[in-house]
Amino acid sequence: MKETTEAQRMEKIVSLCKRRGFIFQSSEIYGGLNGLWDYGPLGVELKRNLKSYWWRVMVHERDDVVGMDGSILMNRAVWKASGHEDTFTDPMVDCRSCKARLRADQIVEKKGAKQCPVCGGKDLTEPRSFNLMFKTYVGATEDESSVTYLRPETAQAIFVQFKNVLDVSRKKLSFGIAQIGKAFRNEINPRNFTFRSREFEQMELEYFCRAEEGIKLLEYWKEERLKFYENIGIARDKLHVLTVPDEERAFYSKGTYDIEYDFPFGRQELEGVAYRTDYDLSQHQKASGKSLEYFDEETKQKFIPHVVEPSAGVDRTVLALICEAYSEDQAPDEKGKMETRIVLRFHPRIAPIKCGVFPLLKNNEQLVAKAKQIVDLLRPHMFVFYDESGAIGRRYRRQDEIGTPFGITVDFETLGEKDSALCDTVTLRERDSMKQERVAIKDLADILISRIS
Ligand code: ATP
Repeated sequence: MKETTEAQRMEKIVSLCKRRGFIFQSSEIYGGLNGLWDYGPLGVELKRNLKSYWWRVMVHERDDVVGMDGSILMNRAVWKASGHEDTFTDPMVDCRSCKARLRADQIVEKKGAKQCPVCGGKDLTEPRSFNLMFKTYVGATEDESSVTYLRPETAQAIFVQFKNVLDVSRKKLSFGIAQIGKAFRNEINPRNFTFRSREFEQMELEYFCRAEEGIKLLEYWKEERLKFYENIGIARDKLHVLTVPDEERAFYSKGTYDIEYDFPFGRQELEGVAYRTDYDLSQHQKASGKSLEYFDEETKQKFIPHVVEPSAGVDRTVLALICEAYSEDQAPDEKGKMETRIVLRFHPRIAPIKCGVFPLLKNNEQLVAKAKQIVDLLRPHMFVFYDESGAIGRRYRRQDEIGTPFGITVDFETLGEKDSALCDTVTLRERDSMKQERVAIKDLADILISRIS
């Protein structure tokens, strides 16, 4: 029963995403392309707000982290040294009955027999390794010498630029390098809407430290990252920390946590926080022949730093934000009759549009002019949306459904027609409680800025 309701909830979310312009299927008019998605006018805002909050918390509000932006295509040698060319694989199985291509760990086992989750068939091939990197050629000749890959993670650019960034930023250990960017994986089985895509964005921090600090910093970053999710409006009780067992961890990692979220389709990973030891820098030092050591001025020692990596997915977090925000409640319509209201209860900090501005009537010049003045007043500080069409209740509903946390209505009291004390005041409506307060226009920017930042 619970599964059906959760499946229905997910269907409603996917349909809202398309209807209101959060997420569309990529290349839709040509039948789409599996595992690829486009963000529409509201989706792009949500995504940008998430990324800029991550950047604010992880880079701007800290003294010990700097940012960078690496290229997507890199020298093939990077992927050889990092191990991706040889080992970035998933075990793949084919179902001979329905021809489905499956990840071996997605096969279901019933009464001791392995079954295809699509058709239930038992005629499956043996698992074989499938490299998830997209191969491409750089330059005009398509031969072995021009092969490289679209990066499957952003982290490697940070490792190979470690020395340059260290030299220019003059940071002392412990310090981090942060990056947000696209990554590509030719996933065998993309699914669950945008959750497992073939092109996605990552927000990664490589936090370099001394070996003896690694374990402590792993704990520290796990806690920091949990706080982050709470600060963007994800309930703590829907977040879970999985300690990745020894046998599933990369051989070089001394500890990995997965931060998981209760999606409607099950509990799934949002972010990995991994203590990767000195593996990556050592590999690149060995393969490139260039020193990636750190010189400790106090002890006069040279060594390769260890690293703790919180690696989060932008798209998965956006999906979690939408799933978390989606709700239905009962609210009175124009005539006072109760109706179902769809509300995206986004935290104001990440909501795509911060505030709707509505003149009570669209055919009253003074109301319209005042509302437009308010739009001009707020625009330098936040993304606002002006709407004059339809009954005011319907305009509120449209904004509720896309998660706009505040609505400003300009009415006859604003014009001072009823009570001169109310001249140049407006109603400020809050999305979740639907409560309205009367606020002076001159105070609007300060009030809203304090609530959305
Ligand atoms: P999974 O086990 O789900 O494939 P992973 O453990 O391989 O993920 P990492 O390599 O740790 O993932 O990547 C870090 C983060 O990047 C993940 O926590 C996730 O948020 C994001 N990510 C990885 N693969 C995808 C994908 N195919 N689609 C969307 N986001 C992804």
